[in-house]
Amino acid sequence: MSNFHPKKTIVWIQGITCNGDSHSFFNYSSMKSFANNFEIIYHPLLLTDYNLEEILTSRDKYDYLIIEGSFTKVRDYVDRCGYSFEELVENLSKRVDYIICAGTCASFGGIFRERDKINITGGLFSGDKEGGYWSKNKKVINIPGCPIHPRWLVDTLLILKDEKKLLLDEFLRPKEVFSYFVHHGCLRNEYFEWKIDTKNFGEKEGCLFYEQGCRGPMTHANCNKILWNEVSSKTRAGSPCLGCTEPDFPRTSVYETKTRMSLPAVPYGISKRAYYTVTGVAKSFRVDRLEQKLIEEKR
Ligand code: SF4
Repeated sequence: MSNFHPKKTIVWIQGITCNGDSHSFFNYSSMKSFANNFEIIYHPLLLTDYNLEEILTSRDKYDYLIIEGSFTKVRDYVDRCGYSFEELVENLSKRVDYIICAGTCASFGGIFRERDKINITGGLFSGDKEGGYWSKNKKVINIPGCPIHPRWLVDTLLILKDEKKLLLDEFLRPKEVFSYFVHHGCLRNEYFEWKIDTKNFGEKEGCLFYEQGCRGPMTHANCNKILWNEVSSKTRAGSPCLGCTEPDFPRTSVYETKTRMSLPAVPYGISKRAYYTVTGVAKSFRVDRLEQKLIEEKR
């Protein structure tokens, strides 16, 4: 195999996955500029110049290993060219500069970990929980999301390529993306402030926090800053944020707001006392404008 590649090289492998992160990545809007900077040496869904067996038996070095899907040591679950997923990761991780977990399954185990009662699947890194494959390995960068936003991945790759400083949070997520909350930039903030909830999915009016289970105020991601397909987001379209970038995703009853003594969860980093006081005050006023339809249909 020729090991001369003028661009930064990527090997993309999959564990237990639905392919969602790949498909989201394929929707990246500037694929031409991506291809000017990076060469995908291998991806299970793309036709590339090399097959996986050639790569695994070579000693070539690559820049980035992207892992999609939940990790497992069990060969019955994942067998690629006779290699278990553990052997695959072991083989490739020593020959790259960075390992990037694309998606919540690769990062924290995600849906597969949740369904797995015998504990044989998980993420590469599981924070404080047991079961992470590499606890706080300095080469690992987590880009959770179900699925990832293509820009979360490509912007991270560009930062690495340009050798700029990449700051990570406690779960090894890039701070540039995951310092924001989904709540930031949501068009429903005014309804949140005045505690006016939406009654149905898909409506333009109302906040989805109090009755529909929205996790926007406690979920780290910039979904409402950079938007999806550069057009919209879940909460803008009238569907609650499900908190898919957090290590505890998926929780049960995702479309319900859990309450304690009829009070909903408190947004991240706000004291209960402050939050309930403000809530009480806001609820004691009626804001007629916010009770009306944004766009009145007149006959
Ligand atoms: S819908 Fe969710 S993200 Fe939007 S304002 Fe309400 S709680 Fe925040």
